[in-house]
Amino acid sequence: MSRMDCEGRQRKLRAELDRRKVDALVVTHLPNVRYLCGFTGSAGVLLVARRPVFFTDGRYAEQASAEVHDARISVVKSGTLPAVAATCAKLGLKRVAIESEHLTVAQFGGLEQALGKGVKLVRMAGAVEALRAQKDADEIALLRNAVGLSSRLFRPLLRSLHSGLAESAIAGKLEYMARKAGADRMSFETIVASAERSALPHGVASATKLPAEGFVVLDYGVVLDGYCSDMTRTVHLGKASGEARILHRAVLEAQLAAISVVRAGATAGEVDWAARQELRRAKLDRFFTHSTGHGVGLEVHELPRLAAGNDAVLQPGMVITIEPGVYLPGKCGIRIEDMVLVTERGYEVLTPVNKELIELN
Ligand code: ZN
Ligand code: ZN
Repeated sequence: MSRMDCEGRQRKLRAELDRRKVDALVVTHLPNVRYLCGFTGSAGVLLVARRPVFFTDGRYAEQASAEVHDARISVVKSGTLPAVAATCAKLGLKRVAIESEHLTVAQFGGLEQALGKGVKLVRMAGAVEALRAQKDADEIALLRNAVGLSSRLFRPLLRSLHSGLAESAIAGKLEYMARKAGADRMSFETIVASAERSALPHGVASATKLPAEGFVVLDYGVVLDGYCSDMTRTVHLGKASGEARILHRAVLEAQLAAISVVRAGATAGEVDWAARQELRRAKLDRFFTHSTGHGVGLEVHELPRLAAGNDAVLQPGMVITIEPGVYLPGKCGIRIEDMVLVTERGYEVLTPVNKELIELN
């Protein structure tokens, strides 16, 4: 973990805190804690002040001393947030921000009480997430590794697809292969959606048995060294009909159209529009019921959101998914998803897996 530039990340965050006139941010969202100081455990809080302090309990004392950098470590006996409050008081902080999307009402109340009247709690949302949208070189390398691992599992996954086998059994085989190949875990619940279930945009693998013929949506990702991958391919069991081929082709054209407009300076909404416009030509746009993609990093869903009308500007170093789909209710669905790196001049597709329609017998 020594490669991470935690100091630079904290510096950018402190500049943002200065802009918003707060003395410190209490970082409680674990992916944000990891991003800012390297801690990978499941209990810890980082107080980003002029001198950052990382708080954890006795279970993580050893792990913290091995992993945490650019912060002093404080191992607390009881209650992390009361210890944070005591440190804020000792440092004489007046305006302390919390991550309002990641604190329970009880935690907020407890912190407010422990801080007392002299300190103002400021609700802040998405400050660290905004920084995380743009990946640095180390993160891009880690994302490439994660994409590489999941991509190498695609061929073996296809070999395990047989009619009569349950979707969940196929997901299980994939997940076993992923762990064997070194994945920390899957980045989300694996989607294996066959036949009419393929029309469910989020058809998590079920007990349904694969039919002899029809589409199967395979949407999965791994976490490797903390970084997520996310990819989708839709394959066809048996020979595809002419209509099935046309549908698959339309989704692929929409995906390629969206990718082709990716570059630093384009807006998220423009990328979404390109996919939607292509499907409109095929009179399929009303069956495209979700957004075109999302950022990926330490979490599988990050900023930016590639949604209709979103005027967020793409920056070099952002890593996003492009994943249009078409879903005909009760009939079938098709989605194709790659991870794409935004560059100064354009883009680089990170997912090296064939996108033409594959028919399996
Ligand atoms: Zn996906
Ligand atoms: Zn996705």
